[in-house]
Amino acid sequence: ISQAAAAARVPPVSETETRTIFDKIIAKEIPSTVVYEDDAVLAFRDISPQAPVHVLVIPKSRDGLTELGKAGKRHEEILGRLLHAAKMVAEKEGILEGFRVVINSGPSACQSVYHLHLHVLGGRQMKWPPG
Ligand code: C5P
Repeated sequence: ISQAAAAARVPPVSETETRTIFDKIIAKEIPSTVVYEDDAVLAFRDISPQAPVHVLVIPKSRDGLTELGKAGKRHEEILGRLLHAAKMVAEKEGILEGFRVVINSGPSACQSVYHLHLHVLGGRQMKWPPG
């Protein structure tokens, strides 16, 4: 692609650092039902639950982590903390016997909010493969 085309190129949403709805949830500007919280992670109920338990686990600081596909070496610690928080959510919600953790990364995976988030789903028999 030419230099001019590169300069004119509008980056896709996934590359921007604009505020998302999750920043407003973190800032408590819009309400959410918090299930788990620590210094780095917030977990709250999904507004449109796809299972009896459907909780989103997000990093409080996005730090470029709009999607899993953008993760770098510096994100290793927060990625581990998010996964551990997902387990804490499953324990609190009483679904440790069986639950699913989903990350949609990018347009082909139907990601809609570009602030990394883990979906923790459970409370019903899950099907495989997912759609
Ligand atoms: O993986 P994906 O980006 O599609 O997931 C975004 C999730 O955020 C959806 O499950 C949606 O219901 C949830 N959401 C929410 N509260 C909002 C906006 C979106 O729980 N205000």
